Amino acid sequence: MTVRTATIVAIDDRCTGCGACLATCPERAIRPGRGRLVVSEVRCTACLACIEICPAGAIREAGAIREGAWW
Ligand code: SF4
Ligand code: SF4
Repeated sequence: MTVRTATIVAIDDRCTGCGACLATCPERAIRPGRGRLVVSEVRCTACLACIEICPAGAIREAGAIREGAWW
């Protein structure tokens, strides 16, 4: 299945792995990936709660349009 959607937030290498964003996201859109966290483009609703909670400033808004669902 192909889904056209928007990348809402992105996590960069300032992430310390504290887990606060995973616990905060109401949509469970943030999951561990290969050595980093990934954000589901399908689940994320752009509430921006994760940006507010991140103590490392590692999450930012992103706006790229991509094809495909991650899960
Ligand atoms: S809240 Fe920030 S530092 Fe903590 S796991 Fe999430 S992205 Fe990483
Ligand atoms: S913006 Fe909201 S829905 Fe999207 S990953 Fe962050 S906390 Fe979850």
